[in-house]
Amino acid sequence: MTARRRARGCCWKRFGALSRICALALLVLSVHGHTCKHRAPAPSEVVYKVYLKTPRITKRNAEHQLRIKIIYDASVEKLDPDKRALVKDKLFPQAIDYLQKAFQVRRQTGPLLLSRQCSTNQYFRKKDDPHRYCQGSCAEVTRCGPVIVPEHHLQQCTACSETGKPCDPVGPPDGEGVDGADFLLYVSGVTTERCGQENVVAYAAYCQLESELDRPIAGYANLCPSMISTQPQEFVGMLSTVKHEIIHALGFSAGLFAFYHDDNGKPLTQRYAGGLPPFNESLGLYQWSDKVVRKAKRLWNISGNTMVSHEVHLLVTPRVVEEARKHFDCPILEGMELENQGGLGTELNHWEKRLLENEAMTGSHTQNRMFSRITLAIMEDTGWYHANYSMAERLDWGRGMGCDFVMKSCKFWIDQQRQKKLPLSPYCDMVRSTPLKLTCRHDQRAVAVCNLQKYSRRLPQEYQYFDYIPGIPTEDLPFYGGAVEIADYCPFSQEFSWHLSGEYQRGSDCRVLENQPDSWRNYGAEEYGPNSLCLYQKSAFVMEQCTRRMSYPDWGSGCYKTTCSALGLTVWVQGMPFHCFYTGQLLKINVRVNTWVYSGDLVCPACSRFCSSCPLPHELPPLNASQSIPIDPCSSSSGLVVTLWLLLANLAPLFAGFILCVWN
Ligand SMILES: [Zn+2]
Repeated sequence: MTARRRARGCCWKRFGALSRICALALLVLSVHGHTCKHRAPAPSEVVYKVYLKTPRITKRNAEHQLRIKIIYDASVEKLDPDKRALVKDKLFPQAIDYLQKAFQVRRQTGPLLLSRQCSTNQYFRKKDDPHRYCQGSCAEVTRCGPVIVPEHHLQQCTACSETGKPCDPVGPPDGEGVDGADFLLYVSGVTTERCGQENVVAYAAYCQLESELDRPIAGYANLCPSMISTQPQEFVGMLSTVKHEIIHALGFSAGLFAFYHDDNGKPLTQRYAGGLPPFNESLGLYQWSDKVVRKAKRLWNISGNTMVSHEVHLLVTPRVVEEARKHFDCPILEGMELENQGGLGTELNHWEKRLLENEAMTGSHTQNRMFSRITLAIMEDTGWYHANYSMAERLDWGRGMGCDFVMKSCKFWIDQQRQKKLPLSPYCDMVRSTPLKLTCRHDQRAVAVCNLQKYSRRLPQEYQYFDYIPGIPTEDLPFYGGAVEIADYCPFSQEFSWHLSGEYQRGSDCRVLENQPDSWRNYGAEEYGPNSLCLYQKSAFVMEQCTRRMSYPDWGSGCYKTTCSALGLTVWVQGMPFHCFYTGQLLKINVRVNTWVYSGDLVCPACSRFCSSCPLPHELPPLNASQSIPIDPCSSSSGLVVTLWLLLANLAPLFAGFILCVWN
């Protein structure tokens, strides 16, 4: 689950006295960041060791896709028609389609026929009998999360008397079950108690595991009705949330770590009575072995030249280790770090946000979610699935950044990059303030802001990273950190959206055509679209007519169309080409469109990052080969020059509404 905070109201809470100004705001900037609380179900909510018959067709098809059968609960039918249509026609079919293509089960079973819950959670197992026998009687209904499982999906009840004998099947015979499916997903839309907490959008978990490999064979996903958004700009986020949740139900859950198997079908955690692993009462989870998760200590640099010990949990199964080493280019990495913050539900159930920020299985939705090879690897390492790595999405965060990035604190990384005079990306160190200093998301596909902010309290000592921030008194430094707590408070550039009196206006992803600003306020001559990149601006852009001169206080980056050719990377501004020959080269933009002249400086990105072929050094022309003459917006006179800056100064009370309103 994901929580979405509302655009309206954030100002009231966050800024207190400024709320009145905020209400007048013309454009308000908002940054997303909602946290997932995947609560591993209590053992009493799960039926373990469900015996299934072997498949009728013995021939195992290696190319066989995972087959997820969705069963919509009656509550879904009661949703508003547009929400119901979104859930049934788009969200779930598309999520399932992706997951079915990404995974295949290693061992097929016969028809899925679930076990009944017991009226008390007391049951017996008999030697050489795969069924479990409820003590006393079976429960009236068997639930999977909030959903009541239909009778025809259930096995016959088997129960023993209170004393343990006799034990017999009772009640209606086995239902027909579901043939041709590997996993039953019960989908509901009920406003449960959990929906009211922390703005949860959806949550999911498994409810029954089969007996041979302990693979989940049934699970549920509940959508909180009031949080289902039918806004088109929210669809991608909703879809990735649904996929994320189903992955928890299929295998990525701290409640399942102790049930993982190796490739030979051997459990990675030793089994005890009843074939179950030991139970850890304090965690409320079955205790995994160190073949699955191990603790490690990191030497952690913090402010004041201090080093502390920082304990982490690492997922250490073979494919995850291999993929993590490859991703970060760190051959000594012992495993992939799990989330250590966010409380029960978030920690241990996700990848560490600091290290894999926009990976889809991190604990919060911030931006541009990607299902990477590392997530496919953990699903393979459950021992239940094969993964189709062609379905993995490219994750840029942390890619090739080495052991210092993945094994040390972000302070160490930031300091080291500063010393080498290299960009701090993916981290940043600019405090969010007005006017906004715009940056680019780490992959340069969206305009962003650095989420470094002041907290109302000191951060825990191990997350105090700053020895110096320009303009900030030393005694205040312990209050500063990134807005995303579960990223170990490391500050990074985050995309955002603009809101007008609470209404969504546009986002900042360069590749989304709909994010194109209106021409009358397109100060930076930006162009959004599938081929656009976020480029840094060296100066504020100016938009000039003969009698008017306008610029915008928030600047620093913008979206521009780029193309690749034999010449390398070309930036297009209002239809005019500008060639990038060198990384960091300044492009002097000066173009006329109708009566407007746009001018400003753009910084060239590295060609090799975005083009498959780039000119070799000896093929490059000398720098500054030509200097163009600036276009005069009016040939006769410069006329009256009014900058928006001056206008802002004059109309300060009205425009004070351009304030930053951010929530996390
Ligand atoms: Zn989650």
